[in-house]
Amino acid sequence: MKNRVLLSALIILSAGSTHLCAQTILTQQRVIIIMMDGFGEKYYRDAAMPFLNQMEQKGIYKIVPSLMPAVTNVNNMSIATGSTPDQNGITGNVFFNEQKQQEEYIEDPSLLLMPSLFEKAHNLGIKSALLSVKQKTIDVLGKYADYTLCPECVAAHENKWENAPVLSDVYTREINYQLMKAADSLLKSNPDVRLIYIHTTDYPMHMWPPENDSVKDFLSIMDHCIATLHETAPDAAILITADHGMNHKSQAWDLEKACAEKNTPVKIVISPEKDRYMKHHKGLGGSAYVYLLKSSDAPSVRKTLSGLNGVDAVLTRSEAAKKYHLMPGRIGDFMVLGDINTVFGELNGHAYEQLPDNYRSHGSTYEAQVPLFVYNTKTAPPASYFNWNYQLAAWLFTN
Ligand SMILES: [Zn+2]
Repeated sequence: MKNRVLLSALIILSAGSTHLCAQTILTQQRVIIIMMDGFGEKYYRDAAMPFLNQMEQKGIYKIVPSLMPAVTNVNNMSIATGSTPDQNGITGNVFFNEQKQQEEYIEDPSLLLMPSLFEKAHNLGIKSALLSVKQKTIDVLGKYADYTLCPECVAAHENKWENAPVLSDVYTREINYQLMKAADSLLKSNPDVRLIYIHTTDYPMHMWPPENDSVKDFLSIMDHCIATLHETAPDAAILITADHGMNHKSQAWDLEKACAEKNTPVKIVISPEKDRYMKHHKGLGGSAYVYLLKSSDAPSVRKTLSGLNGVDAVLTRSEAAKKYHLMPGRIGDFMVLGDINTVFGELNGHAYEQLPDNYRSHGSTYEAQVPLFVYNTKTAPPASYFNWNYQLAAWLFTN
């Protein structure tokens, strides 16, 4: 008992002292951040999610734009740093390394140019945890988190978590429940962990449209998991947003081949949605970066791209950088935006393909609107502060 009193005094003392050098709400309450991958508004509205309904009514709830391209990495990194891609440098799941003249996956932490929430917490001596379905999230963001967990990390014994919970394969609904359970056990056993960031998988949304029972069941269980976190930690703030929505896509263009066929060849086309998790979407997404062989090709290539059925807009590098807060050095000479039915990426042997009726993906402006919830906070900015998904947790630390 004596020890416990002493411990509480120490915690209060250390919380007070960190409060002096920098401000963070984490000294006042724990914060749970949930980046619900692919959780577009229609999924929320169609499913029974009574706890989220309560969060909506009692807290802040808004539909906000997500960042373009509407892919996971761009938005996840922006949410986890509270910054835009022109600041943090993350413009896709892959990017074209102009120095090496090759396409590379964004997995190297040095590519992230802004400090993460975990780094900020670490600098204040506050413990944090990052629970993610994807190893690359842990690779880029995990350095300063005190606890990390991901399915591939379990197999490779790379989790920062002694006796880490067992996790399913990434292509399941269950993995999301298991991450929520892991968060719950951390809240119970390690109250000194003040910040928990959970990144789920959009696998269910790639598989099923909002009206489908399987995805509705999934979301109801997630809702129950979130309610359980609140029961376990009634002191904790809960912040939820998504990276992108999801739509059926009926056609795909391989822009490299389409340009070659029209005698306007390009150097390379990068699909920012392409990642190592190909089962989700075959690397096809609703926007693309086009790199020219030479700058004088610009007018003819632009004409070819604009003439393709399903292309909404072709922006120059500077137009795209300005409009979507992108880092000019990490996007193409052109950014191509698809309409709601159209995706871009590498196709086998031909420039155009019709996609199956059940094919669902994202990446376009039509998936760049997401819900945002801020609930049970002791001090949070007013609703008017939250105009983008990346602002979800941007206010947790102030200098
Ligand atoms: Zn996603």
